[in-house]
Amino acid sequence: MAIPKEGKSKDGKAMHFSVGALIENGGKYLLIDRVKPPFGFAGVAGHIDEGESAEEALVREVKEESGLDVENFELLFEEEASFNTCRRGIDVHYWYLFRCVVEGKIKQNIEETKSIGWYTLEEMKKLELEPVWKYYFEKMGLI
Ligand SMILES: [Zn+2]
Repeated sequence: MAIPKEGKSKDGKAMHFSVGALIENGGKYLLIDRVKPPFGFAGVAGHIDEGESAEEALVREVKEESGLDVENFELLFEEEASFNTCRRGIDVHYWYLFRCVVEGKIKQNIEETKSIGWYTLEEMKKLELEPVWKYYFEKMGLI
């Protein structure tokens, strides 16, 4: 299903649509340290482009931000969230959070990330996580 570029939240605010990728391997989670706001350590994520489905955006964003290929995925949550304002000035995002299995080799995107790497949950607790990712990791009971 293609997603519109912009929608309206339940309380009538302009809203974007976003995907996030929870990528875990052997007890470690793939996190990037974002170059652009919102800052912090985060999972791979991004806006759904006009005419794209959430699944298409997921595969594209994972490739762009990590160099990895999504082999399969499962939708964990979808919901409105208003944790931060994006670069395009919108406060509310409708998130699709997927758990992904990936393959390939990590290729850092230096325009988007200061670093990319695998972190245990213990290591993650010491990092400054981007608010939406802190929320999701807490919601899943991981941190
Ligand atoms: Zn946005």
